[in-house]
Amino acid sequence: MIEILREGPGLRQVTCSNCQSLLQYDERFDTKEKEEFKKIIEYIICPVCKTKTVVRWRKK
Ligand SMILES: [Zn+2]
Repeated sequence: MIEILREGPGLRQVTCSNCQSLLQYDERFDTKEKEEFKKIIEYIICPVCKTKTVVRWRKK
């Protein structure tokens, strides 16, 4: 069995803001972006509760 000793560069973990599930996602593929109040919001959709969790934002 293969174990992950250290995650690759694109993998991140975040806790869902709604159901508190600990999620692992790949920031290169899994995040979506939207524009809101002149900021770029990066978010993922929790597969458990389908709620949007913001993982990062930056100024436009
Ligand atoms: Zn959730």
